Amino acid sequence: MTATQAATAPASLTPEPRPPARGRLFFANPGPTNIPDSVLRAVSQASVDFMSTDFLRVYDSCMEGVKRVLKTTQHVFFYTASGHGAWEASLVNVLSPGDTILIIETGYFSLGWTQMAEALGVKVETVKADWRMGADMGAIAQALAADPEHRIKAIGAVHNETATGSVLPLAELRAVMDAAGHPALLMADTISSLGSFDFRMDEWGIDIVVGGSQKGLMLPTGMSFTGVSDKALAVHKTSTMPKHYLDWSAMMGRRHKSFIGTVPTTLFYGLAESLRLLEDETLDHVFARHHRLAEAVRAAVRVWSANNGPQLFNLNPSRYSDSVTAILMPEGHNAEAVRKILLERFNVSVGGGLGPLGGKVFRIGHLGDLNEPMILGTLASVEMALELAGVPHGKGGVDAAMASLVAN
Ligand code: PLP
Repeated sequence: MTATQAATAPASLTPEPRPPARGRLFFANPGPTNIPDSVLRAVSQASVDFMSTDFLRVYDSCMEGVKRVLKTTQHVFFYTASGHGAWEASLVNVLSPGDTILIIETGYFSLGWTQMAEALGVKVETVKADWRMGADMGAIAQALAADPEHRIKAIGAVHNETATGSVLPLAELRAVMDAAGHPALLMADTISSLGSFDFRMDEWGIDIVVGGSQKGLMLPTGMSFTGVSDKALAVHKTSTMPKHYLDWSAMMGRRHKSFIGTVPTTLFYGLAESLRLLEDETLDHVFARHHRLAEAVRAAVRVWSANNGPQLFNLNPSRYSDSVTAILMPEGHNAEAVRKILLERFNVSVGGGLGPLGGKVFRIGHLGDLNEPMILGTLASVEMALELAGVPHGKGGVDAAMASLVAN
């Protein structure tokens, strides 16, 4: 449309005039997450030769740093791709067409991994679960007991289901597999848990870890990786799934032990800085901070849930997520109306409901570069948005969050 046409466009086609938003966008999505200023500065680099000594020094330190965050001494492969690329790498590198994978249902993201496996010609069996309660370990044990011939080659588990705010306890899952004596590879998606709460690749016997840049690692989107055990690497040698760009064997022959093509150097300058931030704070303190903020959010939601108000989607306290909280709207009220007020009136961005939860839930991300006043600002804005949207709720959620932060 030209300027003249725009000037004469019917009123119905012109956007409603709104004053421009001022102040920082309060970003409380469960990924991507806030990028710390020092990481923004670190990624703002001119191009360098990815084989240069200076860059290789940064790259090698990132490889070691990511291993420390994963708590592994085994292998890591990086990809220039979002988390979906690492999901695909996890499947094509160890499975063959017609192989069976057992995927534990957690929510929208376990369904996504399932669809990808099916599209690649893998047979998927699912341990069904109630999204509000999380998968039952007994049901997983039963599925493994029903497979005495060990047809199941891998088990896919989403550590933190970003759509529901629910954690799948991986150490318990490993114990169930060991008790069953099942040799399947254990794959864990840690995209929204890594760097936010406890994860231990080697101690928990995880064979393939799927991670991404844009959540707990506080980087821009566009890089993902897999942690890979020696056992998974041995299985890889027998995999006949077609692959090229994501092929670990091809990657192992290269200097970076990753990347068939150009290395995204700027992301590694950012990663070096985000690893420095995580390790300066120490992972234990990072996890404690996430827990404190998550408890404050849950305290606020519990208060809002009075008067038939919005409530915690996750009904299982032993599976509460310290990185994201999904909040279920009362019947007859649309979460999108609340999100719209938050964004347009208060410049606050929270996540929406995914898949079947669209319109039914909104999600507060409390992971990454976040502190108490940031979370309180978000909660206060949500409380105002509930009021403005005419959603019934108990008053005083922010007070409860403050009390929780003071007590913890
Ligand atoms: N798995 C989980 C748990 C996620 O939260 C996401 C994205 O939010 C994905 C997989 C997909 O990752 P990406 O969007 O980076 O491709």
